Amino acid sequence: MKADRKRGCMYGLAIGDAMGAPVEFHKRGTFEPVTGYRSGGKFGLDAGEWTDDTAMALCLAQSIIDSMGFDPVDQMEKFLSWMEEGYMSCTGKPIGMGKIIMRTLIRYRRTRQPYTDICHEKFSGNGSLMRLAPVVVYYADDLDRAVYYAALSSKTTHASPIAVDACRFMAYVIVHLLQGASKQEIFTDAFRKGVVEYFEDAPLHESLLPVINGDFRVKCSNAIPSSGYVIHSLEAALWSFYYTDTFEEAILKAVNLGEDADTVGAITGQLAGACYGLENIPHQWIQELKQTKLIVTVLDELLK
Ligand code: MG
Ligand code: MG
Repeated sequence: MKADRKRGCMYGLAIGDAMGAPVEFHKRGTFEPVTGYRSGGKFGLDAGEWTDDTAMALCLAQSIIDSMGFDPVDQMEKFLSWMEEGYMSCTGKPIGMGKIIMRTLIRYRRTRQPYTDICHEKFSGNGSLMRLAPVVVYYADDLDRAVYYAALSSKTTHASPIAVDACRFMAYVIVHLLQGASKQEIFTDAFRKGVVEYFEDAPLHESLLPVINGDFRVKCSNAIPSSGYVIHSLEAALWSFYYTDTFEEAILKAVNLGEDADTVGAITGQLAGACYGLENIPHQWIQELKQTKLIVTVLDELLK
C-alpha cells in the first residue's frame, strides 16, 4: 500500500509534467482542452515527453540514492550534469530550465557552494516545489526529517523563505498521504490545526496562510492563477486535487489551467499520486509516458 503510494507520487510528478508541457505558457482557455498526452508546445516535444520538473526530480532521487541521504553538493553536481550533458533528461537536453536555476548552477560551477545566495522573496518560483517528491518519498517514515530535508533541498536553488516554506508544507502534506491519510482528511479542520501546531516553533511564511487555511475551497477557477509563483502553483495544485475524485481528473483539471501547466501538473501529480497510488493511475498514461526506464530504475533503488 505504502510503496504503491510512493510510486504514485513519483509517477504522478512525471505524468503531470508530461501532460502539461504542451500547453505550458498558453493562456487559459486559448487551447484545445487537454485530455491525454499530445505533442507540441514551446519545446516541440513528442507526446508523453517530460521536462525539467521530472529531470530534476530524478537527479535529486539519484543523488539521495548515491549519497544514502540528502547531500546538497551531490545534488548540485547532478543538476549541473543535467544542464551540461542532459543527465536524467527525457530528450538528452535540459528542457525547460528556468532562469534562476541556470543562474544558481552557473554560480555553483564557479564557487562549488551548494546553497544559492538568491534569497529575496521576489524570487519565489516553483522550481524547488516541482521536484520535491523524492525527498519526501525517501524520508516518508520520519516527518521531521522529511520536512527538514525538503527545506534544504529547496535552498540549493530556491532559498526564498516563501519557496522553502512551500516545500516544508508540501512535505508535511505528502508524508501524511504516503502514511495513509485520505484526501478528505487533508482538508479537515483537524488537519489544519495539526499543521499550525507542528510548525509552531518555526512558523510557515505568512504568504502560505491562505493556502493552509484552505481558502481555495471556495474559489472558482477564475480566482486560481497558475503562474510560476510558488504560492500560485501550490494553490492551483491543491485546488485541482480538492475539486476532483481521481488521479486522472486532478491532473487534467490542473494542466487545463494553462500558464505554468507542466509544473502545476507536476505538483498536483505528487499530491494525487501519493493519495490514490500507482494502481489508480490510468494504465495507458503510465505506458505512454516516455523514458519510464529512468523512473523505474530510480524508484526501485529509492524504495529499497
Ligand atoms: Mg517544465
Ligand atoms: Mg513549468
